[in-house]
This record gives sequence, C-alpha cells and structure tokens, in this order.
Amino acid sequence: MRIDVFTLFPGLIDGFASQALLGKAQEKALLDIRAHDLRAQTTDVHRTVDDSPFGGGAGMVLMAEPVFAAVEAVDPPRPLYLLGPGGRTLDQAFARELAGTDGFSLLCGRYEGVDARVVDHLVDGEISIGDYVLAGGEVAALVVIEAVGRLVPGVMGNTTSGEDESFRDGLLEYPHYTRPASFRDWEVPDVLRSGDHARIARWRQAQKLTRTIHDRPDLIEARGGLSPTEEKLLAEFDR
Ligand code: SAH
Repeated sequence: MRIDVFTLFPGLIDGFASQALLGKAQEKALLDIRAHDLRAQTTDVHRTVDDSPFGGGAGMVLMAEPVFAAVEAVDPPRPLYLLGPGGRTLDQAFARELAGTDGFSLLCGRYEGVDARVVDHLVDGEISIGDYVLAGGEVAALVVIEAVGRLVPGVMGNTTSGEDESFRDGLLEYPHYTRPASFRDWEVPDVLRSGDHARIARWRQAQKLTRTIHDRPDLIEARGGLSPTEEKLLAEFDR
C-alpha cells in the first residue's frame, strides 16, 4: 500500500514512519509512505506558501498555488484527503475501509487552514481525527497512517491480528494479563489459569460486555443492546 503525504514538515512524517511498526512494514515493502514537501514547487526566493486571508482577520492561509503544484508534480494515489477538523471522523470502520485499498494520499494543513479552492477542486475528501483543533495536519496524518497501516495484511505479523480487538464487533477489548500471576498481591483471575479454553473464551466475551457497558454505553446502544445469549453470559460470571 502506498500512502503519499503532502506537508510543510516532511521530516515529521519520515521520522515517525521510519520506526517501529511502520518502519518494519516499509522495510518489508508492505507499506510505501512518501512525504512530499509543499514548498517543493515554489519558485520565489522565500519559498512562500502562505498569505493573509481575504476579508481580513488573524493568521495566515496556505495558498492554493503551491499546494496544487506540489500535488500535480507527484500525481499521487487517489483519493487525496485533506486533514481537517470538519472532515469525516476517523474510526475503526473507516480505518478498515482505507486498509482495503491499494493506497491514498493525505494533505496536511497548517496556519488557519488551506485556501478553499484546494478543498473544492483538488482533494477528494476530508478526514478529521476528532473534535479538537491541532496546529497542523501532520499528527492527524500519522494517526490515520498508523491506524490503517497496522491493518494491512502482514504488517502486524501472524501472531497478532486485528481480529479480536476493540471496536471489531462494536465492543471494547477484554483485559490482558501476563506474568507474574501475583503482582503486589493483585492476582490474575483464576479462570485465565484454568486451562479451560471454552470457559476462558466465555469469560473474555463477558469482560468485553461488562467493560463496554461501564465505559462506553453509547457503543452498546449503537449495537441495539444485549442479546439473550449475552445476558446469560453476564449472569454466568456474575458481572
Ligand atoms: N482554522 C481551522 C483550524 C486550522 S488548524 C478551524 O478553525 O477549523 C491547522 C491545520 O491542522 C488544519 O488545516 C488541518 O490540516 C489540521 N487539523 C487541525 N485539527 C484537526 C483535526 N481535528 N483533524 C485533522 N486535522 C486537523
């Protein structure tokens, strides 16, 4: 999968994407993450990319000309998404959608944002990572890349997978424990050491339900409440 990123700070993208999970995925040629400098096609001595807003007001606006020129010089994989607080909010379902493609591109805004003609005539859509305002799109782009990249087959390896994790079935994940079995007198639940795999699976499912009911009741509501089987499961482990 190829992901192109247009930014005033390509080093932020390259630095993050060259390490850990994404770095390994790039070494294995599973991911190809290319950061492009939005100043690349500027011709003036100051390499200008921003100007003050028509109509007045504080701050600067990323100009249409350098953004169009940078994107057109590369002809990156489409769709091209602008990162912005007004976009479609990234969630696990959206990440899975993007992970099923051959690639896409991301455009990082800065300052007050980008000239609206970029939104209207250059990009194919807009992605937000939540209802708050960042100083630039780079961190948001990296959030998208990591959430999507780890779902690309092979990136997480064979031992781990996206099969059993939070949001997969509209629920949060069950809690994990590792050695030692007793840490500062806090014990690992007996069931996990029982060797009874069917019971462990039922306990984990019950934990997912309990946690989600407690921490994210909105998710339970969104999936239409609990089924009779799930009610029984909760009763088995006494919540
Ligand atoms: N003036 C704008 C905010 C600009 S923030 C407004 O009020 O909506 C500068 C840049 O940061 C944006 O162009 C966008 O690329 C990025 N950004 C800020 N918040 C973001 C968010 N929640 N999700 C994705 N990108 C965001």
